[in-house]
Amino acid sequence: QAKTQGRGRVETFSDGLAAQMIARARLETELRAAIEHDEFALVFQPQVSASSGAIVGAEALLRWQHPDGTKLPGSFLQRAEETGLIVEIGDWVVATVANTIARWARLGIEQRLAVNVSQRQIDHASFFRHLRAAMLAAQAPARLLELEISETLAMHCSEDVLRAIATLRSAGATIAVDDFGTGYSNLARLRRLPIDRVKLDRSLIEHVATNPEARAVAQAVIGLVHGIGCEAVAEGIESEAQAAVLRVIGCDVLQGYAIGAPMGEADFLAWAQDMAPRRATA
Ligand code: C2E
Ligand code: MG
Ligand code: MG
Ligand code: MG
Repeated sequence: QAKTQGRGRVETFSDGLAAQMIARARLETELRAAIEHDEFALVFQPQVSASSGAIVGAEALLRWQHPDGTKLPGSFLQRAEETGLIVEIGDWVVATVANTIARWARLGIEQRLAVNVSQRQIDHASFFRHLRAAMLAAQAPARLLELEISETLAMHCSEDVLRAIATLRSAGATIAVDDFGTGYSNLARLRRLPIDRVKLDRSLIEHVATNPEARAVAQAVIGLVHGIGCEAVAEGIESEAQAAVLRVIGCDVLQGYAIGAPMGEADFLAWAQDMAPRRATA
């Protein structure tokens, strides 16, 4: 009896494992096909000044236009990183961001565009070379580029990577630490990093309008960010109440569904146009 039960459990476990392995293999095959068939796209989420409401830039976010429907990075990024396919996908993202910056600038829309980069990409020696080449080829000015690196990556990247980031920053790019508050920061290191902005993770923002302690924590983090000479950006703002609190406690830049959802290029440009008169009368 016990033996059968034991075997039953082992079988269930193996079946689950086999199914998982098949799913992972299929995802890898599909990712390779997606690269080949150009199934990736970028959407753009606006960032606005907390004080004036004026648009100050946008974050480019990756989407996979899968035959079964649009997929979010959460469903495929990890696999892309494990397989190294993120390097190819990331190069496509960087080239597309450079082309987009240049295209918008030609239309008279000088918007700073932020690009996300993951550990595996930045560890790849060619990343900064490709980035520079893409910006040059598109004739996109570095001052319109923002690079987002996660807090965890910022805390652990090598001296070589830090130097490359510093060089990019000297050329005029903005450097942002993403998802701040989800990792463990060494504050002495944070202070010495070549960065301009710190993006407070959604988990720090979520309860600011309903919980006094959460508001105090966010305010302290914003104070810390200002203390190291950086701008504080709040991400994942879902309500006007959260936005109002963030304005009061000194946050510089706001981003989230309550400000504007990630949009396709045409919608984003229309959104940015709509903002202009509002800015003039503000
Ligand atoms: P992230 O850089 O922290 O981006 C913010 C995520 O929060 C985005 O999810 C965005 O759509 C979502 N978001 C924005 N406003 C709100 C809000 O008000 N509420 C909530 N609940 N969510 C909001 P998304 O697009 O699914 O991207 C997830 C993560 O995938 C990103 O987190 C980033 O780390 C990564 N990622 C996205 N695009 C790229 C890319 O091109 N390259 C790399 N390496 N990573 C990327
Ligand atoms: Mg980001
Ligand atoms: Mg983030
Ligand atoms: Mg995040």
